[in-house]
Amino acid sequence: MLQRSLPLLTFALAWALPATASPIAGPGPNSLHAQAAFNSIPQLLRPEPHSGHSAHGSHDSTLTPSELAGLLSIHERYDGHEVWRVDWRGLGETAKDEILALLESINMDIWHMSAASIDIRVPPKFAGIRTVLPSFTTYVPDVQALVDMTLRDVVDDEPEGGWNVSSIDTPFHDAYHKVEAVYAFGDALKAGFPDVVEEFDIGTTAEGRPIRAWRAHLKTSDGEPEHEELEFVIQAGQHAREWVAPSAAVYFLHSLVLDATADPNSHAAALLRHFTFTVVPVLNPDGFEYSHAHSRMWRKNRQDVGGLFCKGLDLNSNWGYKFKAGRTACSDSYAGRAAFEGLETKAMAYYLINGTLTDTPPRDHKVRAFVDLHSYGQLFMFPYAYSCADFPADAENLMEAGLGVAKAMRQAQNGEGYQTGQACDLTFRSTGEAIDYVYGEGDTRWSYSAELRDTGTYGFMLPASLIRPTGDEVNAGLRYLAQFIYETDIDKP
Ligand SMILES: [Zn+2]
Repeated sequence: MLQRSLPLLTFALAWALPATASPIAGPGPNSLHAQAAFNSIPQLLRPEPHSGHSAHGSHDSTLTPSELAGLLSIHERYDGHEVWRVDWRGLGETAKDEILALLESINMDIWHMSAASIDIRVPPKFAGIRTVLPSFTTYVPDVQALVDMTLRDVVDDEPEGGWNVSSIDTPFHDAYHKVEAVYAFGDALKAGFPDVVEEFDIGTTAEGRPIRAWRAHLKTSDGEPEHEELEFVIQAGQHAREWVAPSAAVYFLHSLVLDATADPNSHAAALLRHFTFTVVPVLNPDGFEYSHAHSRMWRKNRQDVGGLFCKGLDLNSNWGYKFKAGRTACSDSYAGRAAFEGLETKAMAYYLINGTLTDTPPRDHKVRAFVDLHSYGQLFMFPYAYSCADFPADAENLMEAGLGVAKAMRQAQNGEGYQTGQACDLTFRSTGEAIDYVYGEGDTRWSYSAELRDTGTYGFMLPASLIRPTGDEVNAGLRYLAQFIYETDIDKP
């Protein structure tokens, strides 16, 4: 999902205040008075007793709770945190910007934004902000309970004999997994379907993890791909905490390969003959690991960006199209000082534009389709994200295909409704995004990003029981998109 730049000064601000700072008491008017809001900030920041023991023993530390969790090798806790959906329909752009500036100033964690509303995670110490916000609904009353639930939904241990890939019923798709298990499943896919699935690494992260890609296609009787130039790239996991996206990407590829190999006359087989599908299931493996081990709400990567305490940049703000440098390394949406400062965005962009490995020739064909999987919101979006004033020349085609994708997703088994449209419209404007780069610089016409389930009930903590229905939706949507492209675009390399 999108997020604006939020300087992360929570601890510093909270502890810079005198102990006599008075809390806001009781509910106030639910109207927006932005200037009053700014003036109220000191009163809104109420230090919690016993919550300020930073690893450095200093009350003016800028160490964030999630960084602290990492240093102490513990899970960050979210006791008493709620998620509110703030209704901002009817407010103008200026008023929305004022709300965002207010939230930014206290490092509120923004979960989702749309033209109608904004979802924010509110720690108890900031509950007083209710007095200056427009009307809101409590969407998640107990964040920690959901965190506990998804941590229980993680299965780390590989079964005896490795993961079973011969059926979509494999228990792999019934649980979340750390990145090692995801990669082990890829190894099993490659071993199970050696003529169809390849794997390779497109780069290495700051913590030394490989950024793995899987590639699948069927070959014709003479052993060659029919249309090698038609490459369809799916990436997931730019944002660490959006766990269902990597799960759905794995489910999609597994399902496609199973269906295609079970029946050479199937639609899946035709797609895998026409297209090469490349899946990067976890673009941000360091952040993904961190969201498992320390902070379930972690969003960025984990590289050193020059900050004293805070690591990481927001990969989906770091792509080199309409890039805007970030201001504060501690922000959850810190874009970095330069485009492609992120090792992961740099590696992925290099792959998308040039092909990947140094010992292979540069690609002689551009990527035909690109889909970037996120959660949550149930949206299927085309460029641009950075501005609604910039309308892509292919908007009509992108919209038509996108509507078909959304319909296919809804018609999947237990499918849910998805909205289609321009990204800036559906999620508020945001710069440096992957889909804008791939469309604007990579010259890939079919560039989309998807926000998968749900619409806010569980948010990032989607129960593992919903991985399969979400995977079925992605499956139906991406197959539809590939078919649409094949039928309409085949003669326009
Ligand atoms: Zn995201």
